Amino acid sequence: MSESISKLKQDFEAELASLVLTSKEDVDAIRVKYLGKKGLVTDLLKQMGGLSAEERPAYGKKVNELKEFVSEAIEKALLVAADAALQKKLASGFVDISLPENGISAGSTHPLYDVREEIIDFFAHMGFEVDFGRDIETDWYNFEALNTPPDHPSRDMQDTFYLADKVMLRTHTSGTQIHYMETHKPPFRMIAPGHVFRVDSDATHAPMFQQCEGLVVDENITFAQLKGVLQVFMDKLFGSGVKTRFRPSFFPFTEPSAEMDVSCVFCKGEGCRRCKGTGWMEIGGCGSVDPNVFINCGIDPERYTGFAFGFGLDRIAMLRHAIPEIGLLTGNDERFLSQF
Ligand SMILES: [Zn+2]
Repeated sequence: MSESISKLKQDFEAELASLVLTSKEDVDAIRVKYLGKKGLVTDLLKQMGGLSAEERPAYGKKVNELKEFVSEAIEKALLVAADAALQKKLASGFVDISLPENGISAGSTHPLYDVREEIIDFFAHMGFEVDFGRDIETDWYNFEALNTPPDHPSRDMQDTFYLADKVMLRTHTSGTQIHYMETHKPPFRMIAPGHVFRVDSDATHAPMFQQCEGLVVDENITFAQLKGVLQVFMDKLFGSGVKTRFRPSFFPFTEPSAEMDVSCVFCKGEGCRRCKGTGWMEIGGCGSVDPNVFINCGIDPERYTGFAFGFGLDRIAMLRHAIPEIGLLTGNDERFLSQF
């Protein structure tokens, strides 16, 4: 009996040693062969039943010793196999673990995205609904309904990307206001943020940029309320203390119309190179909604009045971060983006 135990031990050692490139599967196969339910060591234990009461203790002790020996050897072999697998993986993956790590760079939100989210958040808190509109508009929504006569310069082929006859990439987000007025009954207030497209490209103009327009329509809406809303908005964007001023201007869809300036965010109105010594910076346009626009949208201009305003998000982001060129915002240059 004890010969068969010693023999099995020798066989096991020889078999384990014969594995040159130990894999986990190879070791598992040996484990099953010796320690499994029908394994060789398990078999020896089963033979105890046929022994006399005197023989059993010594035999049982020896078989258990063998079982422990085999278990330990297999545990060790598994560790060796795991290490061999790791080495193989590292070699095939060409990972040089001796190289120093080069730092983990985390992304950040884009300055344009930040500005847009901030504006949406501000107006949403004031009860404005957000409508993103559509990038492609027809002549009616981009021009005609906005009281833009056929001979207006903004209709010129040089400014507009036409896709087909009377179909174009929107040149401003104002068309969203027409869609909105056609489908909503006053009173309402809404903003329309989105991309707009113009055939234009230099340091401060890009063929695609972002605008946000706002529209408020109700009975007894006044220009004074427009000024109030925009002053609070500029306080929010550039900090309280920023001054605003309104200069008479012309837009086809508002009457009266104004350009709004803010006191220069760089020199606080003292006059510097960036504001060309004036102390003021142009930020957007605004005005009272032209009655013709109301008529085009089926809103009674005798009963309702309203105001509208619009500004460029790129311009706001450029002013806030002193960005000299609009192209940097869409250039996707990591050296620029990592500064935010
Ligand atoms: Zn200045």
